[in-house]
Amino acid sequence: MLGLMQDWPLLISKMLEHAEINHPRRELMGLLPEGGEFRYTYADMALRARKCAEALQSLDVKFGDCVATLCWNSHRHMEAWFGISGMGGVTHTVNPRLFAEQIAYIINHAEDKVLMYDITFHPLVEKLAPQLKSVRHYICMVGKEHLPESSLNVLSYEELISAEKGLYSWPEFDENTACGLCYTSGTTGNPKGVLYSHRSNFLHTLLVLGKDTLGIGSTTSILPVVPMFHANAWGIPFAACASGAKIAFNGPHHDPETLHKLIIDEDVNFTAAVPTVWLGMLDYLVKHDLDLGKLEAVTIGGAACPRFMIEAFQEKFGVRVNHAWGMTETSPLGSLGTENAAVADLSKEEKLDIQCKQGRTVFGVEMTIKDDDGNELPRDGETSGRLMVRGPWIAKEYFRGDGGNILDENGWFDTGDVACIDAHGYMQITDRAKDVIKSGGEWISSIDLENEAAAHPAVKEAAVIGIFHPKWNERPLLLVVLEDGASVSFDEMTQHLTGRIAKWWMPDAMEVIDEIPHTATGKISKKDLREQFKDYTLPTA
Ligand code: ADP
Repeated sequence: MLGLMQDWPLLISKMLEHAEINHPRRELMGLLPEGGEFRYTYADMALRARKCAEALQSLDVKFGDCVATLCWNSHRHMEAWFGISGMGGVTHTVNPRLFAEQIAYIINHAEDKVLMYDITFHPLVEKLAPQLKSVRHYICMVGKEHLPESSLNVLSYEELISAEKGLYSWPEFDENTACGLCYTSGTTGNPKGVLYSHRSNFLHTLLVLGKDTLGIGSTTSILPVVPMFHANAWGIPFAACASGAKIAFNGPHHDPETLHKLIIDEDVNFTAAVPTVWLGMLDYLVKHDLDLGKLEAVTIGGAACPRFMIEAFQEKFGVRVNHAWGMTETSPLGSLGTENAAVADLSKEEKLDIQCKQGRTVFGVEMTIKDDDGNELPRDGETSGRLMVRGPWIAKEYFRGDGGNILDENGWFDTGDVACIDAHGYMQITDRAKDVIKSGGEWISSIDLENEAAAHPAVKEAAVIGIFHPKWNERPLLLVVLEDGASVSFDEMTQHLTGRIAKWWMPDAMEVIDEIPHTATGKISKKDLREQFKDYTLPTA
């Protein structure tokens, strides 16, 4: 027997309509790539998103077509998200931090019909254009007066939409229709496409609104530093529409001064970004003796959030840190560490220990850890294994079947992360499966070592990689970037690490380097470091 409730497809356009009807005057503002700032309301945004859909239709974009965006966080990017997906197209958010060849590869792979891009990327687009096989139109997200000179026939976004009426009514279709496409940064092989559906993004949005997740509501003023070109900006733009939250878009600006100014001027009370963004911000705040205004909470994820960062936000600035884990394949939220009744009575230090973990599984996702033979491992907070997830916003295969079958026989997706889960359900990433250091048959977590080394006051950033060792197979090499004018010897570092890590985890050597390479998504690039140190011989070898 079927239930007798209404079939109401879970479509992206429903979120926009909700914002337009229920929060028409709520403000959105942003810094523009062509300079200056911009301010309008959800009512304006919804109208312009409809005009965007009409303009794309007039360019012959059809249901199911992919349209690429190469844009910063901005109101225009948001209009494009809703305009493209709302009409049944697929918004392919392109990460501009990928290598140029990778960008050409993914645009060709997706067969994008139109490329909408911010003026910042015009030189890149001109360079790529001869390689782009499917792109029929280039739309630069500016007014006609800012249109760059070009050999391409570049259209002005503002001019295009000003020619439209905005009478478009969002079509209804199957909620399982594809609505968004985002490629993983391809640390191995070519990037692979994760194809989100209206349904998966809708359900993920309901999740994001919850108190134990991002807790976004109508009184929230958000600075989503996390980019809209990567993993749906953690679902924030959708959740903002669904709740009427204000957004301040930072556009092309990621420097602490600009971000801080936005936080203060726009009464931002919630923000989210990867740890590297906050490293710079905390430095800046201390240097200039500043506070964070009305900021209440920051979600930090994408890479492990170091303990000192959680402490600094909470102790110095009274801002709660919620540590999150996820990946492109998980839409991206998989787990989050908000306050939890089960651990409410613990001491401050113990709570901090827990906050360093990657949080508890969010409702709607199932999570387990398995050994290499596929056996589930105990949730004892110590045994670590392959982290596996499943749920309605977890990928079941990559776009165009790349990589073949990605689920095991019980439908679990192997995240490639190594983790343990404790009795309260807190998951802790101990490593990427390929970064774990295999010493004498045991695993050493490079992330734990990095966090402890980074807690040394002389250290700005730390990375640990496994180096070949004739007896142990691999042993850890610690690489550090130092704070300006600071110094630390290997002996001082080993003293600092003693008692903080298992004895046999102690790095065999330390090298001071000028810079730690990062991937397109802001993570330490272990691949580059391994390449750089491939001929390194450990003094213990
Ligand atoms: P990429 O395209 O680089 O794979 P993703 O954002 O999809 O970009 O990367 C997801 C990976 O990032 C996860 O599998 C995990 O290894 C890492 N990650 C995400 N959040 C955290 C976190 N809070 N702590 C540690 N690692 C994290």
